[in-house]
Amino acid sequence: MTIHNNRNFCKNCILPNGFLDIMLDEEGICDICRDPTFHTESWRKVQITDTMRAEAKKDWNATIHTILCSENRNPYDCILGYSGGKDSTALLDMLINDLNLKVLAVTIDTGFMTDVAKNNIKSTLENLNYSAHHCFISEGTSTFIRLYRFLFLNHHSNTRILAGTVCDHCSDLIHSIIVKEAIQRDIPLIILGYSSDQIKRYFYEIPQEEMRTKWTPEFIYTDPFTDDDRKWYLLEKEKNLTSLPRILLPYHVLEYDEQSIIHNITSKGLVEKGKTDPVLTNCHVVKAALMYDLYRYGGVSYALQYAELVRQEPREERSRTRKKWLRLYMSIGKALLNGRFASNGIELFLSQIDLSKHDLLSTINSELMGDPNREKILTNIKLLK
Ligand SMILES: [Zn+2]
Repeated sequence: MTIHNNRNFCKNCILPNGFLDIMLDEEGICDICRDPTFHTESWRKVQITDTMRAEAKKDWNATIHTILCSENRNPYDCILGYSGGKDSTALLDMLINDLNLKVLAVTIDTGFMTDVAKNNIKSTLENLNYSAHHCFISEGTSTFIRLYRFLFLNHHSNTRILAGTVCDHCSDLIHSIIVKEAIQRDIPLIILGYSSDQIKRYFYEIPQEEMRTKWTPEFIYTDPFTDDDRKWYLLEKEKNLTSLPRILLPYHVLEYDEQSIIHNITSKGLVEKGKTDPVLTNCHVVKAALMYDLYRYGGVSYALQYAELVRQEPREERSRTRKKWLRLYMSIGKALLNGRFASNGIELFLSQIDLSKHDLLSTINSELMGDPNREKILTNIKLLK
């Protein structure tokens, strides 16, 4: 039997049976395809209406207009969270050159940025002649390391992927550090380059209430974390400010086309051709979390997005698209199991958080013992071998 007809994968999308407690019915259709309102801790479909988009767009235009017309502008109009990926690179160029904003580019080093991302930053700043307005904050790396180690060793869930948990906590910390920088410099606006499909948590603006109540995890007040770690999170006096800097995600309302973004930054010589692939610029941490999730939940975490892309295809195209994504799913899964997927990055990451692969696998195994879907999970892993 070819893998496309394998009865362990949803016939309509590509989700494997029992992955994150998502089940196939007798007809081989998964919970999400059966019921579009179905959601779990790892999956929820976010619907952005045209009205929401129009309102947000209006706000963006008004915000920029207000800045440009202001009589006494700050030395910096805004901070841009600058990761060195294609999206934030293109955004930096647009903010400076198209919108004429005075931007402070801020990069938070988690300790696990790839060299490609670092080189992208260097070449972009040189090209734009903008190095004087870049701030590289690397003093928090030991806190990131403690955070990652804690999350990898204390992930107790049958339904929530570690990749998502790590991404959320890591971005909360990155955002906290940026907000603190903005408060210190009295910069009222922060801009982030979330792409148009990154809408799972936020659409267009991060609510201030979220910054005050959701960003600082409870566990940061427990061992092994210290005041040296907690100082990177928003302090009570910062949370109590009447207004925090606004954080906007303009790609949610502007024209976003991945290919033209890539074309734009490579043709201007900001970033070398071939250095825009997220696989190269994404941090090693996510890749290690993908490996964790595969052994723990029996699937590649990207499957949730891939499956949604298949569902969005028109019916006549769906079967072809499904094959394409299922093939990619299988090849990433196999490569992760064989140690051929980002293995250097993953090894480096594990050694930096002082965790051997052996210890990680035994941690995963003891979590897996208590999972009611254990048999299905093991079957799904076997299918990838
Ligand atoms: Zn499905």
